[in-house]
Amino acid sequence: MNCERFRADRLAGIIGDEDRKHLDECPACRGRVPGLDSGRTALGDPAAWEEPPPELGARVTALVTALPRSPRPWWRRGLLGPISAAAVAIVILGLVVTMRSPAPDWEVAIPGTDLAPVAAGTIEGWNTDTGTRMVMQIDGLDPAPDGFVYELWLSTDTLHVSAGTFIAAERVELTTGVSRADFPRLWVTLEPVDDNESPSGHTVLDTDPH
Ligand SMILES: [Zn+2]
Repeated sequence: MNCERFRADRLAGIIGDEDRKHLDECPACRGRVPGLDSGRTALGDPAAWEEPPPELGARVTALVTALPRSPRPWWRRGLLGPISAAAVAIVILGLVVTMRSPAPDWEVAIPGTDLAPVAAGTIEGWNTDTGTRMVMQIDGLDPAPDGFVYELWLSTDTLHVSAGTFIAAERVELTTGVSRADFPRLWVTLEPVDDNESPSGHTVLDTDPH
């Protein structure tokens, strides 16, 4: 167990006997624990993985390789340490990405209607504690014209719940407070930006075409 291994473990939430032993013996790593723990919390936030910032890998590497308080001169530092730590960081990133980007709970194709005959795509959904998170990927749908937005609805036969509005749908993420199990039909309307909160009837995409 060396410092980088301990830090990589700590960042990944692994605390074994070897890690505990190292922590007892190493003041430098004890000083790193708060930073590593807050780093792990930040990495555990699903929002961090929607669009991982480009500097994330460097930040993880920095957490793992951060120098002790009284660094040795550069000529006495091995190059192998930072390189192997970077490799460890990449492995951790891979693990966290895999854990934090689970497969969707459902996926449905959503074809265009007569109003948007060349549009088609899919919606992936994740059931969450507070409802449903969806990622919609649509090809062949022009951006909404000025003064209009698209709106995604989840419906039963008679009840319609909005999942939000958007302009372009190449890849759009939307959330709603209901579950698709209760509101199985998904459909998209073109809505004028006005004070009418009901669906316009201008349906451009529909999982349940009539
Ligand atoms: Zn250490």
